Amino acid sequence: MDTILSKVEELSGENLYACYQCGKCSAGCPMVEQMDFLPNQIILLIIRGDNSVVESKTPWVCAQCYQCGVRCPKNVDITKIMEALRLLKLRKNVDYIKISGMKKNLPQIAVVSASRKYTG
Ligand code: SF4
Ligand code: SF4
Repeated sequence: MDTILSKVEELSGENLYACYQCGKCSAGCPMVEQMDFLPNQIILLIIRGDNSVVESKTPWVCAQCYQCGVRCPKNVDITKIMEALRLLKLRKNVDYIKISGMKKNLPQIAVVSASRKYTG
């Protein structure tokens, strides 16, 4: 059976067990005041198999700034982990947009980007 840990590791390509909870990621994150769980806490919840992490608002307020990954002594790229959590949530829901209903002549990158962010 797929666990939240295996799903996040598959989507992100990151090894969450490399994290040793030093907290440097959270200490440098510019968005922590808006988060319900700090970045290092998100990793801990995933490792513990706590599926409620998918409902956390933290991945949605993450600014994708890469500061956490730069500061991490274990090279854990939390930005990718936040992206994986968003994808897990989005894939449970109805598509927010229909590709077939998009305007024609949009730049290809816009179509690819929308596909990744809004549909499962
Ligand atoms: S900086 Fe890296 S090792 Fe430290 S808590 Fe964050 S993810 Fe874990
Ligand atoms: S990428 Fe997200 S979690 Fe990491 S430091 Fe930036 S805002 Fe915080």
